[in-house]
Amino acid sequence: MLPADPVAPGSTTLGRRMPDDVTPTDIRQQGRRQLGITWSDGSESSYDVRALRLACGCAQCVDEWTRERTLDPASVPEDVHPLSIQSVGRYAIQINWSDGHSTGIYPYRRLRALAEELS
Ligand SMILES: [Zn+2]
Repeated sequence: MLPADPVAPGSTTLGRRMPDDVTPTDIRQQGRRQLGITWSDGSESSYDVRALRLACGCAQCVDEWTRERTLDPASVPEDVHPLSIQSVGRYAIQINWSDGHSTGIYPYRRLRALAEELS
């Protein structure tokens, strides 16, 4: 019996397992307080930039073992904002913050979840 839908040589079905394989098509600063992202599925998210800074998941802001947040919100200036944003591979953005913090990487998946959490 032949399979109904043979997989072409060299191809993989791995990518199809990611239901939320959505990427930003546009990232823009909306004034000093908001960051807006348009996603490849047509949806739009906007973020309070300070909330995004506080949600940083890097090893300096979150304990790697306990996942406990070690970042003290009081140490983050009220007017913190992104100085630059660059993409990391095809899965995340890295934000260079005005408070000197630049190790935070925000995977698209996390940004999508944050849009729900912070709204
Ligand atoms: Zn961080």
